[in-house]
Amino acid sequence: MAEKTNQKICPQRKKCGGCQLQNMSYAEQLSFKQGKLIKLLGKFHRVNKIIGMEQPYHYRNKVQWAFGTTRGGKLISGIFQSSSHRIVAVDSCLLEDEKADEIIVSIRKLLPSFKLTAYNEDTRRGFLRHVLVKRGFKSGEIMVVLVGGTNIFPRKKDFVKALLKKHPEITTIVFNINDKKTSLVLGERQEVLYGEGKITEELLGCRFRISPQSFYQINPKQTEVLYTKALEFADLKQSDVLLDAYCGIGTIGLIAADRVGQVIGVELNPAAVRDARENAKLNGTKNAAFYCADAGEFMLRLKEEGEAADVVMMDPPRAGASKQFLHCLVEAAPARVVYISCNPETQKRDLFYLVKNGYKVKKIQPVDMFSHTEHVETIVLLFRQ
Ligand code: SAH
Repeated sequence: MAEKTNQKICPQRKKCGGCQLQNMSYAEQLSFKQGKLIKLLGKFHRVNKIIGMEQPYHYRNKVQWAFGTTRGGKLISGIFQSSSHRIVAVDSCLLEDEKADEIIVSIRKLLPSFKLTAYNEDTRRGFLRHVLVKRGFKSGEIMVVLVGGTNIFPRKKDFVKALLKKHPEITTIVFNINDKKTSLVLGERQEVLYGEGKITEELLGCRFRISPQSFYQINPKQTEVLYTKALEFADLKQSDVLLDAYCGIGTIGLIAADRVGQVIGVELNPAAVRDARENAKLNGTKNAAFYCADAGEFMLRLKEEGEAADVVMMDPPRAGASKQFLHCLVEAAPARVVYISCNPETQKRDLFYLVKNGYKVKKIQPVDMFSHTEHVETIVLLFRQ
């Protein structure tokens, strides 16, 4: 009942659509997710009880708002309405880090005094398209990325000065240029206006450098829970070769590195691979190598070179693993596979393939990483039969 009394309701929830489960108490949300997972994955194995959050609000360490102008000419900032391109004007969000929201509101208030406008995607005129803030919850470091629709940023030095005066807690400011007609937030070019252009964050005793483009788990508290469980499932030994597939900036592999003989990481995004290599150095890890490639192609290459991993930890994006990856995985036949997924539908599809080809599901553990939304994260342990 306590959770019911503490339940917070967002005034914009109907317009925004991002929090699909906000009409439920948190306890109801967890049992809704549990039920969904039993339906999807229950035929493979019993589904452990989902691990929920103690404080299911303001958990997002990455905040991304769009800027626009209303028909009446008012400058607004906020969140894109679910599956549309309409901006829902907000000043704060129950899921997002409060400091990040505060900074973006300050930026919106600063713009007029610098005669800076919001970018208009139709006319392709104006200036600010998005603001992205990433915050290290443990390190306290804050990165602000101003995404302009043009590379012309008049008085940028003064703007940075004014923003830092208001928020001295910001550790780095990046100007990113995105002049393309695209739904992607970040463009390819960028200029560091202040600080290092990256933040460092801590996770389970390791330090990680995160750049604007790299993927990093958005709920740091639950990420520690997720990785701890995943590593427990992997049951690593000093003699093991561990393949961290879809490794992002190398988090899982680097946290696991001192428990195994060797870590091999593979990731498609070059910025993330650069971060992963830098992160290996930062943590003094000598037994980890990171490769920039499609995970499926890389598996094929490993096979051709006669290399094999004892344990594979895989954490693909929502689309799941590719056919090629799964095919090579089955051929490589590692003893254990730990499959972390943010989309149980594609995970179910991939598990079917693995189970049909010699693997058995041993454990299923859901973790609530995305409270109030319909999204759910699961860890599945598989053994080679
Ligand atoms: N394991 C990491 C990242 C998981 S997100 C973590 O926990 O932080 C999934 C990652 O897969 C992203 O970094 C994305 O860039 C990467 N990715 C997407 N498609 C890929 C592919 N075909 N091959 C390799 N990596 C891919």
